[in-house]
Amino acid sequence: MSEMKSIGILTSGGDAPGMNAAIRAVVRAGIHHGMQVYGVRNGYTGLINMDMHELDLRGVSDILHRGGTVLGSARCLEFKKPEVVKETAEKVKASGIDGMVVIGGDGSFRGARDLSLAGLPTIALPGTIDNDIDCTDYTIGFDTALNTVSDCVDKIRDTTLSHNRCTFVEVMGKEAGYIALSAGIAGGSEAILIPEKEFDIQEDIVQMILDCRARGKYHYVIVIAEGVGNTQEIAKKTEEILREEHNIELEIRACILGHIQRGGNPTVEDRIVASQMGVHAVDLLTKGIGNRVVVKKDGKITDLDILEGLNMKKTVDADMLRLADILSL
Ligand code: ADP
Repeated sequence: MSEMKSIGILTSGGDAPGMNAAIRAVVRAGIHHGMQVYGVRNGYTGLINMDMHELDLRGVSDILHRGGTVLGSARCLEFKKPEVVKETAEKVKASGIDGMVVIGGDGSFRGARDLSLAGLPTIALPGTIDNDIDCTDYTIGFDTALNTVSDCVDKIRDTTLSHNRCTFVEVMGKEAGYIALSAGIAGGSEAILIPEKEFDIQEDIVQMILDCRARGKYHYVIVIAEGVGNTQEIAKKTEEILREEHNIELEIRACILGHIQRGGNPTVEDRIVASQMGVHAVDLLTKGIGNRVVVKKDGKITDLDILEGLNMKKTVDADMLRLADILSL
């Protein structure tokens, strides 16, 4: 028998495909354990305002395959104030809700930890397309975003090749290059620029283009992570160096993919991981456990103390970097 009778769920920070699959899993697992489950609208803003409604089995029908989040998401600066968290935790507990599940990025995790410390046991699920959460190998939404980016890169390649151009494709990832590295390898890009690896325009781009030209290749797709810098400026600088120092007129375009990367139906991978993580979160709450983040480590779904998770540091996979170097000829 579950220790908790009633739990809530909210989505916070940037939305990611697969959040709906996680909401559905939490609701259905909660009901499976005999709990009532409440959906909170618009992240911590809705929690502060007690803007929530009970979700039944039918209430989460037909959302598994949809992108975005049916609960809405928000950034709520108010929630960074300790007194607001304390007051909210007390209000939520007084309403009969014994535990919460929060899906979001590491900003949202800090709110989840604060809620737990304020007496409302809360479980965090990693949901962001960027895969930039250090304590987990995988975040809900990453695979869908990679498929979207890879599809865009394929399309850009068709036109880049037809016109013998160079295109810089800027992808999301905040300060991390996980989307760029994986999508660059999947899209066969001629170069991948990520914040984790220093680069030099002359050595890493201009020289690559010169080497390719010497081998008879005249079109180049370069995937660049948003955290690297100003893509338009890097593209312009490359064009200038080629013109002024090598007497080569190459048309270089910058294509910034933007929010298209956040949308779309979640892939099978995202639906399954979100479902696994949602059920795992509810399993913890049934035992009265809070202040944990659910993670995927070495292929297994497990959990960690939130603060321990926030203090971890992950690095870009050196094998993937090597792969990119070997294959981008
Ligand atoms: P993400 O969760 O995607 O990293 P943000 O960093 O914007 O996105 O965080 C989402 C929300 O989490 C914030 O708007 C705020 O409500 C809450 N949050 C972020 N940092 C903290 C913090 N230090 N303490 C409490 N709540 C926080």
